[in-house]
Amino acid sequence: LETKLPKVGTTIFTVMSQLALEHQAVNLGQGFPDFDVPGRLVESLARAMKDGKNQYAPMTGIPALRQAIAAKTERCYGHRPDADSEVTVVSGASEAIFDAVQAVVRPGEEVIVLDPCYDSYEPAIDLAGGRAVHVPLDPQTFAVDWDRVRAAITPKTRLLMINSPHNPSGAMFGASDIARLSELLRDHDIWLLSDEVYEHIVFDGLRHESILRYPELRARAFVVSSFGKTYHCTGWKIGYCIAPPALSAELRKVHQYNSFCSFAPAQWAFAEMIEAEPEHYLGLGEFYQAKRDRFREQLSTTRLKPLPVPGGYFQLVDYSAISDLDDAAFCRWLTIEKGVAAIPLSPFYESPPAGQRLARLCFAKNEATLDAAIERLAKL
Ligand code: PMP
Ligand code: GLN
Repeated sequence: LETKLPKVGTTIFTVMSQLALEHQAVNLGQGFPDFDVPGRLVESLARAMKDGKNQYAPMTGIPALRQAIAAKTERCYGHRPDADSEVTVVSGASEAIFDAVQAVVRPGEEVIVLDPCYDSYEPAIDLAGGRAVHVPLDPQTFAVDWDRVRAAITPKTRLLMINSPHNPSGAMFGASDIARLSELLRDHDIWLLSDEVYEHIVFDGLRHESILRYPELRARAFVVSSFGKTYHCTGWKIGYCIAPPALSAELRKVHQYNSFCSFAPAQWAFAEMIEAEPEHYLGLGEFYQAKRDRFREQLSTTRLKPLPVPGGYFQLVDYSAISDLDDAAFCRWLTIEKGVAAIPLSPFYESPPAGQRLARLCFAKNEATLDAAIERLAKL
């Protein structure tokens, strides 16, 4: 078989979760919470199924959920997208990203991604016949070098993909990033895909700079989010994309033949949840900040050096005091020999910085899970 995706193997998240299972390691690798979703949400889901909400949802999402998303967006970012023409419910942020890329990237066109970037971006670009152009973030701070982004733009550039809060580093865009981005896009005819799945997991009073706050930027953007992160239910696979009508129409052309619609009962459950607790997400930063702080405190008893975490639910650690193995080998060793699964950073790069000794640990876990991991990490 002549593969269409020669560079792609099995995702690092599957590989490390499988390894964790085989070796009974504490799994701080793949990003998912190990605690329950809000009880009310489970009850709403069960009720939706009992009430017969089990057939195809409307292709774009049930109106009640699209309206709830529009209202929530206005509460958060001061802009209300049109629920009919600008909000599309899809099967997770993964689908939104895939659909958006297929919708706008033609064969031979270029898409700028900022390395390290989430591992689904490049395969989506490849399948569209496009080419990912990788611009590295600062290896220490994970800040964007906007001059390098500008230099990477060519007449073939169709799309720029950004992600704040950032996976894997937790870095967040500040006001100056928005200013530089606006300035850059003013001069170029490029679409923007803003992956904002960790939008509500932000710490220390920082403000999430959603692209939806900025009229000039949102006029050319697909903004992607995921209920999986906000409601601790990564397995439900419901996300959404907010984009201007013309872009939403193109995205929907792909969505309707990719999945047609997303899991209907969960759409009813989220609509109910948002209506009943419209401010639920406001507590998320505080909830995760307590976990982050406790985990970082515990890490100080180990030889792993934690990097700053402004947002998201991942902690990067520098392991150079422990090992000189490359990150993939270190994470395998840590999982198999020491019983803690972590994610290496190299799969998030086209070419990882030489000598980088970083691993990603997920702290979206119960205290008992994190305590068990720390007990093992303290022995390194
Ligand atoms: N983008 C980023 C940055 C992510 O971390 C993830 C998954 N955690 C996704 C997209 C995909 O989200 P979903 O699970 O909703 O498909
Ligand atoms: N986004 C999750 C992470 O970064 C993984 C999602 C997946 O396994 N596809 O860990």
